[in-house]
Amino acid sequence: PGVPDLEALQHQDVAWLLPVPGAESDKYRRGVLGVVAGSARYPGAAVLAVAGALRGGAGAVRYVGPAGDAVIAAHPETLVHAGPPSKAGRVQAWVVGPGLGEDPGPVAEVLAADVPVLVDADGLRGLDPAAVRARTAPTLLTPHAGEAAALLGVAREDVEAGRLAAVRELAARFGATVLLKGSTTLVCGPGGGPVRVNPTGTSWLATAGSGDVLSGLAGSLLAAGLSALDAGSCGAYLHGLAARRASAAGAPVTATDVAGSLRDAWLDVTSP
Ligand code: AMP
Ligand code: MG
Repeated sequence: PGVPDLEALQHQDVAWLLPVPGAESDKYRRGVLGVVAGSARYPGAAVLAVAGALRGGAGAVRYVGPAGDAVIAAHPETLVHAGPPSKAGRVQAWVVGPGLGEDPGPVAEVLAADVPVLVDADGLRGLDPAAVRARTAPTLLTPHAGEAAALLGVAREDVEAGRLAAVRELAARFGATVLLKGSTTLVCGPGGGPVRVNPTGTSWLATAGSGDVLSGLAGSLLAAGLSALDAGSCGAYLHGLAARRASAAGAPVTATDVAGSLRDAWLDVTSP
């Protein structure tokens, strides 16, 4: 008794949590995010994750992976690294997984870093609960229903039929914050407690690449110092608002459009 099951994210909470650089700030203090994403087959996932990351306010974004040329062509402000994540220099948080394809190699290396890590998409494939539980820095997992079902070893329909139970079970099993994407996005911390519900989503977000934008965006907020619960929930809130902005009165949107409307969404949240 006393602990509510669900907590709707409120506009004012998000406005209060979004980071604003102080007068003394520099790019390192604002947060450096490392993004490990993309593959020869899926270079676009890297481009979209970096797009979300840049609009999430990180002071700098380091990209590590094989899609550096595509990332630089789309986002010249990115710092591109060809070597392994551990050689990329200082970062304050990592995103790993979008478009990685079959190679889970970098995931273990990123999880070994003692900074917050967001794991999405292919990074979630076969993820070992013990490896996540052993981390001392926060971990944020961002599965859609299919990825959540694979992690739990159940059918996708079971997750859809019990989304609240699924997000709680995943958070407990992995000792991590879990953001379960879908028609209602839910975010649950590792210690249980009320599950946050994002009210801004729109079904226009059901489009290829939109999840990659969210991972970069939420990762950027992690790098700025937000907790995994706040980074995930503020990221989902802005992402949904951006999609609504891009969709206007109800036209289809692309993931690139969503990233392009993140600035408007940010202003919607922070303007009185
Ligand atoms: P992904 O499945 O990784 O591409 O991510 C898809 C993104 O779109 C996530 O942010 C989902 O929450 C969102 N999304 C997918 N389907 C819907 C829906 N029917 N209503 C609202 N948001 C959705
Ligand atoms: Mg995805």
